[in-house]
Amino acid sequence: MTANERDTTKAGLFTAVGRAVMLSCPRCGARGILDGWFKLKDNCPNCALGLRRAPEADEWFGGYFVNLMASELLMLVVVIGYVLIKWPAVPWATVEVLSVVMVLVSPVISYPFAKLLWIALELVFGERAESGT
Ligand SMILES: [Zn+2]
Repeated sequence: MTANERDTTKAGLFTAVGRAVMLSCPRCGARGILDGWFKLKDNCPNCALGLRRAPEADEWFGGYFVNLMASELLMLVVVIGYVLIKWPAVPWATVEVLSVVMVLVSPVISYPFAKLLWIALELVFGERAESGT
């Protein structure tokens, strides 16, 4: 798809979530919607999907919740993976340090993914609920 094509048809759940995980627009799949790691552009440059909402509207609460879940999952996968790789001679002091580092780093890593996942869920379920389809 070129940047000039507009695909504003509603994406299915797996398509929208897959695009969000790839840091692409959940609706059209266009890249280049991030304005830095912590900021989304106002709108998708391809399909004009609104990507930023008013913070006072509490619409990012779901995004923060998704970020919490994603960062906890990422931390668990890394720490448990490390323990399994080192088993049975696990250096537990290293596991403690790794856990603390992952608590601090994983929310930063998962931040844009969580925001886009929330937009994807809103896109699929929010519009579906409004239109009744
Ligand atoms: Zn788009």
